[in-house]
Order: sequence, then structure tokens, then C-alpha cells
Amino acid sequence: MKSWTSDAQSCGVNPDWLTLLDGMLSPTSEYPDELQTVVQSMREGLNLTVEQGLILWNYPDLNMIGHLASLSKQARFGKQVFFNSNLHVNQTNICTLACKFCAFRRGKRAKDAYALSVSEYLSRIEPYEGRIDEVHTVGGLHPDWDVEYYEELYTASKKLYPHIHIKSLSAVEVKHIAEMSGLPTRELLKRLQRAGLDSLPGGGAEILDDAVRNIICFGKESSEEYIAIHRDAHSIGMPTNCTMLFGTIETVRQRIEHLCKLRNLQNESHGFQCFVPYPYLPDNSRLPEAQLASGSEILRMIAVSRLMLHNIPHIKAYRMNIGDKISELALHYGADDFDGTVGHEEIMHEAGSMTNLSYSKKQLTKFITDAKGIPVQRNSIYTKFRRFDDDDGNSQFISLPIISMGVGE
Ligand code: SF4
Repeated sequence: MKSWTSDAQSCGVNPDWLTLLDGMLSPTSEYPDELQTVVQSMREGLNLTVEQGLILWNYPDLNMIGHLASLSKQARFGKQVFFNSNLHVNQTNICTLACKFCAFRRGKRAKDAYALSVSEYLSRIEPYEGRIDEVHTVGGLHPDWDVEYYEELYTASKKLYPHIHIKSLSAVEVKHIAEMSGLPTRELLKRLQRAGLDSLPGGGAEILDDAVRNIICFGKESSEEYIAIHRDAHSIGMPTNCTMLFGTIETVRQRIEHLCKLRNLQNESHGFQCFVPYPYLPDNSRLPEAQLASGSEILRMIAVSRLMLHNIPHIKAYRMNIGDKISELALHYGADDFDGTVGHEEIMHEAGSMTNLSYSKKQLTKFITDAKGIPVQRNSIYTKFRRFDDDDGNSQFISLPIISMGVGE
């Protein structure tokens, strides 16, 4: 069996994945006429065009699109499905903006508004400290907090919990803190990186089309600013994820163009590790005109994302939003990452998510094994992996400094 090492750019992808994919695909001429140019582009590792993305979107047989995406995933990772052991802590729900899809934000004087002090933040992590290796922290745009609050937060976290990776701040938070502090975003990110910020989670992309943004999240960072902030992060060696919120008012073409914008930046800066598509959850938010996404649409979005984003290593099935059952199905449609243990989450649950927050690793990985995948615990930046071995019923981990990933495994 062939083994390879991983770094923060390759993120565990088999370096021979394109050759493997070529061998896994049937001869191009055996595919339906309308899919043949797509399959040929897949073989050659070319960027699929917007028009090809639309062909995939409109192709009637969802399972065929899922099959192509699944081959693309298997060529990279075999049957292995990644998860991590993490905790979400939201530092404040007070926000100066009022995005229409957001059920989480509160005005400063709202009865249930909160803003964690540094010690309150640390006490949220404390009960999980020995069980997690990542804290995921995003929140509202607090009207009084500038770079100093976040420096203090990250410094104190690293001092107490040096082993915990800090993934924090959506692009709009970066923009807001930079403005509050009178700093260019790149300088802000460098300061926060020195304080302990390890990576950005990718939230706030919504749909990278300013006409849509002006309606659903007026005042947020523009499409160009989202891309520029991630470019800044990548330029200082800070990995990021990227996201898409779909099912509000955007067209399918705008979704596909969104993917192309992310892919273009990735071709330039190579810092995206994972793409996380999630549909709008309508409960408790203020967007009656939203179209909402059905189950098959979520699966198709994941499959099309896998095929369009050939240069972004991972596609996540975001359990907090799409639920465990659709996430499990998504593993057959191109997703290779099953999110994390999470422990606590507010943003999606305020919006109506019913996803369970208290799974053990054993319970979490059952979804992966039920989908005939091999669960692999990863660190936040996909450079260290441990195979989750539950064969003996003792939930033991086996350390693998070099992960082995055979397609036929
Ligand atoms: S999505 Fe973020 S920026 Fe928009 S209102 Fe909610 S917390 Fe504020």
C-alpha cells in the first residue's frame, strides 16, 4: 500500500489522485453525451466552466452526478472520511449588523445579549480541554471590541491550552476588528496570528455576488473584500476554509460563479483547505422570500462543489446545518469530511438546527462506518491523522504519522 505525507496545502490528498481518477472513470464515450466534456475535463484536471457547472446542476440523474463526485473524492482519499474533535464557543451574539438570514445576532440592549469576558471564554473550554484539539470561535460584530480584546483572548487561550488550535473569525469579523483598530486587514491578521490565531473558518461568504449580498446581508464585507481577506490570510501562512450559504434568493448560476471565485483565489494563493456548503435555515430569521433547499438539492450542491473545486482538498458535510442523516448521505456525493464533535453550537441552532451536540467520537464515527467509510481523526489543518479503530469496542485510536490511503482499502 502506498503512503504519503501531508502538509497544510496538500491536506492529505493523494498526490496521484488525477491518475487514479482517470483509471476509475469509464471511457469518456460511454458517458451520456451532455456529460462527456465534463468527464474529459475531470480526467485532465481542468477547471470546469460555469456552463459545465450548469450542465451538472441540470442533469436529471442526481445519482450520476453523485457518482462522479464520489469517484473524485475516492481518488483523493480512498474510503477515508475525516472528522475532528472540536468545540464551538461563540464569544458574543451582539452585532452591529442585522443580516436577514441570521437568527443569532442581538442588539446590545437585548435581554439575552451576551459578551464573554476572557475568563468566561476560557471557562467554556475548560470542561472539554482534554477531549478537543480545536476551538472554533465566531460571533457578532461587537461595537466596542478591537484588536486588543482578541489578542488577549487568543494569548490567554494558548497559555492555558497550548495544544488547542484556534480557528476563529469570519471575514466580516476580520473587517470589523480591522476598522475598529485602524489597521489594514493583513496587519491585523499578523498581530492576531502572533497572539495565537491559527486559522480562519471561512464563514461569511454567503453568496459572492454583491447584488444578492445587498439584499440578504446589507453592510457585510463585499465579495471582493471576502476574497481579499482570505488572500491576506494565505499570504501570511494562515490556512482558511471557505463556505457558501445557499437557498436564499440567489440563482443557480450565482452559486456556480461563487465556486469559480473561490477556485480562482485558490489557484493563486493555495490556502483554502476545506469548502463548506450549507443551506439557509429559515426558522427564526427574516427572509420570507427565500427559496429553501430540498434534500436532493443539498446533495447536488455538495456533488457539484466537489467537481467544480478540484483544487480545494476537502468538502465538508456540515452536520450542524444539514443534520446527521443528510451528512451521512453526502459521503456518497463527494463529501469527505464529517465535521467534528462540536460540543456546543449556537448559530445554526438559533436558526432551527436540531443536530445533536453531544455525540462521543464513537457515536460520531458510526455515521461514517454506516456509510461504509473509514473514520480518520484529523487535526485542524489536515497534517496529522489517526485512524479511529473501534473493532475491539474500546474506541482506541491508532497513531499514524503517515496516513495510508489505498483506493481499494
Ligand atoms: S451573520 Fe454575522 S454579521 Fe450578520 S448579523 Fe449575524 S452575527 Fe452579525
